[in-house]
This record gives sequence, C-alpha cells and structure tokens, in this order.
Amino acid sequence: MDPNAQSELVLPGIAASKGIAYGQVFLYMQSELEIPRYTVDPDKRPAEIARFEQALVVTRQQISKIQAQVTKNLGEEEALIFDAHQMVIEDQALIGETIRDFQKSGLNIETCFNAVAERYIRAFAEIDDEYLRERAADIKDVAKRVLHVLLGQAASSLTELVEQRIIVAHDISPSEAAGIDRSAALGIVTDAGSRTSHAVIVARSMKIPAIVGTNDLTTKLQDGDWLLVDGYDGVVIVNPTEPTLLRYGRVEKAKKSFESRLMAVNELPAETLDGVKVTLRANIEKPDEVALVKQYRADGVGLYRTEFLFLSAGKMPTEEQQYAAYREIVTGLAPASVTIRTLDVGGDKPLPGDPHLIGPEANPFLGFRAIRMCLENPEMFKNQLRAVLRASAHGTVELMYPMISGAEELDRANALLAEARTELRQRNQPFDEKMRVGTMIEIPSAALAGDLLAERCDFFSIGTNDLIQYLLAIDRGNSRIAHLYDPSHPAVLRVLKQIVNTGHEHQLKVSVCGEMAGEAIYAPLLLGMGVDELSMAPTLLPSVKFIIRAMKLSDARLLASEALKQTDPKKTFALIEAFYNERIKVE
Ligand code: PEP
Ligand code: MG
Repeated sequence: MDPNAQSELVLPGIAASKGIAYGQVFLYMQSELEIPRYTVDPDKRPAEIARFEQALVVTRQQISKIQAQVTKNLGEEEALIFDAHQMVIEDQALIGETIRDFQKSGLNIETCFNAVAERYIRAFAEIDDEYLRERAADIKDVAKRVLHVLLGQAASSLTELVEQRIIVAHDISPSEAAGIDRSAALGIVTDAGSRTSHAVIVARSMKIPAIVGTNDLTTKLQDGDWLLVDGYDGVVIVNPTEPTLLRYGRVEKAKKSFESRLMAVNELPAETLDGVKVTLRANIEKPDEVALVKQYRADGVGLYRTEFLFLSAGKMPTEEQQYAAYREIVTGLAPASVTIRTLDVGGDKPLPGDPHLIGPEANPFLGFRAIRMCLENPEMFKNQLRAVLRASAHGTVELMYPMISGAEELDRANALLAEARTELRQRNQPFDEKMRVGTMIEIPSAALAGDLLAERCDFFSIGTNDLIQYLLAIDRGNSRIAHLYDPSHPAVLRVLKQIVNTGHEHQLKVSVCGEMAGEAIYAPLLLGMGVDELSMAPTLLPSVKFIIRAMKLSDARLLASEALKQTDPKKTFALIEAFYNERIKVE
C-alpha cells in the first residue's frame, strides 16, 4: 500500500471462519528456495548420499509429528493427507532417480533431488485430472520440506510467526496450515481457496477468523499493514478508519454476547410464539457428527451427504462398508429419522481413486454429476441403495436423490431401487418396506415440473445452494461472482414458493437443506412460505431456533407474502432483515 494513502480500502472475499480480527499483516509470500549448485568431490560422494538419506529420515519424522498434531486437533480424517505425504517420501522411484542422477552428474544432492522432484511435479500437474493434480501438490509440499532440511532452514516461515499477526497468503498448504500457532495467528486471509480448503478447516477448528478468495490481495498489501478481517460477512478492510474500528468493536461485542444468548435456547423447543412447532434437522457429512446432532438437539438428520464417505476413502466403499457407516448413524439417532442422500460427486467434488468414472469436464457443475453418474453406473448405485435399505432395518431412514432434473430420471432411479429391494429379499436381508423416498429440488427444471416429480416420490427437499446457482447462472465456487449469489432475488423467491405449493398440493412434506436454511435471517421467510422443515449444519441450529421462538408464524406468513410482491432484491432483503432485527433486538 502507498504509505501516504491512509484511506481505508474495503475488499470482498468469501467468509470462511467466523469472527473479527484486527492487526498487522504477516505477508506470507512463499518464496522460491535458493538452491546452491556445485560439484561434490568423488571422495565425498558416499557422505553426500548419507546426508540425503538422513534428510529423508528427518522429514519423515517431521511429517509424523505434524500428522499426530493434526489428528489430535482435527481428527483422523483431516490427517489422512499426511499419509499421502509419507508415501511420497518413501517413493523408491523418486529416491532412486535422485541417487542415479547424483552418481551420474556429481552435482550436489539438493540440485539432483530438486530436478527429479520438479520432473515429477510437472508430469502430475499436466494431467487433466483433479485428483492426480493434487498428488503434484503433495510432491511439491514434501520436496520443499526435504530441501529445507538439506539446506538447514526452517520448514515454513509460518511456523516462525510468533508475534500476533494476520496471515495473508496466496494459498496455504496442509503442512503450512498445520504449523500455524494458534496464539500467534489473529486471522487468516488467502487469495485462493474455497470454504473447504485446508487452511480454512484448520482456521475453523482453531476458531480463527478467516476469509478466502480475495483474488489479488497479496499484491495490494505490504508486511505490517493494518487489516481488519470480518469473518462474518467475508470482508477485508485495509487501513480501517477510527469510525470503522469503533463500529466493528461494537459488532464484535454484540456478536459475542449474542452467541451466548443463542446457546441459551439450545435445550428449548423450536416453537413459535403462536404455538407452532418447527422441525429442525441437521446436515452431516460423517458418522462421527452424530454427537453434534445430539448436542444441538436436532430432530434427526435432514441431509447426510454420503459422498464424503467415498471421497475420504479414496476409493469406492463396498456395500458392507457403506452399510456399516449408515447403520452407525441410524442406530446412533434412532428413533429420529435420518435422510440419506445418494452419491453426489462431480461438480466441485471430484471422485478420487477412480479418475475415469467422471473424468475432466469443461463445465463440471453442468456435467456428469450425482444421479446422472449413478444411473450410468447401476451396479455401483445399487450397492449404495442396498446399503441404505439395509440400514433402514435399524431405525428410521429416508432416501433422497440429488440433482434430479425430470421424471424420467426419477423413474430410472426408483426402478433401480425396486431391483435393490428384490435382491435383498432374495438374500433374506431385512429392510424397512415403508422407507420414504424423496427428491432434492435443486435444478430449475425440477422446480418448474415439480408436479411430475411429486407423483413419483414421498417428499421434496430444496437444495438452495444448487438451485440458486442454476437459477441465477452463478457458479457457486467462483469467488469473483460470489456477491451476485442472492437468495432475495425475486426469481428465487417465486420458485421457492412454487415448489412449496406443488409439494403441498400433492400432500408432500417440503424441507430446505441448502445453506439458506441455516441462515437465521431467512428462516421466517421460508417458514412463512410454508416450508415444513429446515435442515442445517448442527452448530447453526440455536440461531435458527432463536428467531423461531421470537416470532409468530402468522407474522412470518405476512412477511413472505410482502416479500413475494417485491421487485427489488435489496428491498426484499431490507424487509427480511427488519423482520429479523425487530425480533432479535441486537444491541
Ligand atoms: C444444495 O445444493 O443446496 C445442497 C444441499 O446440496 P450440496 O450443497 O451438497 O450440493
Ligand atoms: Mg446440491
């Protein structure tokens, strides 16, 4: 920044971890390592090889240490990435090639190792497959670590951060993220990344405010600049003025006291002031989240994203493995119901372990995703359907298909489900004959032709994340247009209302399980439109319950009918916000 330009600069990003941080920037520019190049005397060559082997041992120990630390802080699944790193360091091809190059050239081992590693990184990075490209990142990460050890330098300058600063980087690798000292990092901001990048996972687990997707912020800042990170709204303010700081000081205080007010309703029922009970359910990705579902008193699970079982396994889980995972959740929550969604890979969730099943696509969000891929791979799909059916014998299960675009797809999915049932009967394996089957409504065609789907299923669950993305033509992963993603758009409201009406005309329950359901400000609108259930990340339940307990459903209905008359999304939002603020009364 120009040191004379003291005016504040407000820049948008994507809110990734809640909270507000203010402090000086620690600009983490991952500088290229300077690798000396020299010839090693023939009599010193055995010692050079021993030095290399020693560096590999030290690096292996470093990785094990980080892995243990991450397992302790974040759990085994998050630490899996380091298994891949250990595999790189034990890769005989990489080691053997380095030693051969060294014996041939006599150049110092750093030069040889770097050249071999770069060849591997290039080869992997050029493959047009997301999973294999990630392996290039693993090799890069490990190679850097080995080189640091060989050169006697600290592995990552992030580990040297001792003063309290806000880390600003282009991107942060898993090892780097794991090395961050909680007491020194006030906040994290990255140009790249998404809500699910590793730096974000670490930030959330450490409760550090974080923002991603700031594009070129690193080029606009200097080390030591003052920065305010608003992890609630996803805004970065460079050189904030006194009034801004005062405002944020108040915001932070209010947010903290508000959060403790929210937790006070955790044990109370989700009931409106006019006595209507609302069903609030949880979205989960892994069986170990059952504890959170219980802690936040959710009425079971409204969306279990099964793809995470496939993604974390790295390969196709068998029917037995799936059955075990589903049964764990179902028995853990019985008699509450668990809505298990069939595999939704593709889009922003490439399937590792089988790069050929989906393959690279120009438009993955419009591509071979979810039910489309499952219908083309019926045996794989039926493995999952049988596993879900078998789990239904242990409690209350609902099955739900993602990305249905029309009746034909739903018919084909249901036909495979019928086959799965027949197969289980032949095997004499029990399942719930009355298991309810629902459709996610998240493609505009499904919303507009909902009557055709309603005749073929038992419930609707609206996936607002995708529905809004497809309705407004806004790639949900593109940080550049993220600000255009607007649930208050009149088209969104009209379509939501239409889905609810269609579902109810056919006596179907209609729930919302996209992120909009967990944004407390939208709860009155959705419930006022007639939505029957809301499903959200477990930790968001208290905030939604709080507004439900502070409003009358009759007022929410009036709000919804007013909102539907609006033509300007800003005015619609103002209406929704005013309704919320009047009842919540944040000082
Ligand atoms: C959605 O699209 O709103 C949804 C709940 O599904 P996902 O976020 O997994 O695509
Ligand atoms: Mg979706």
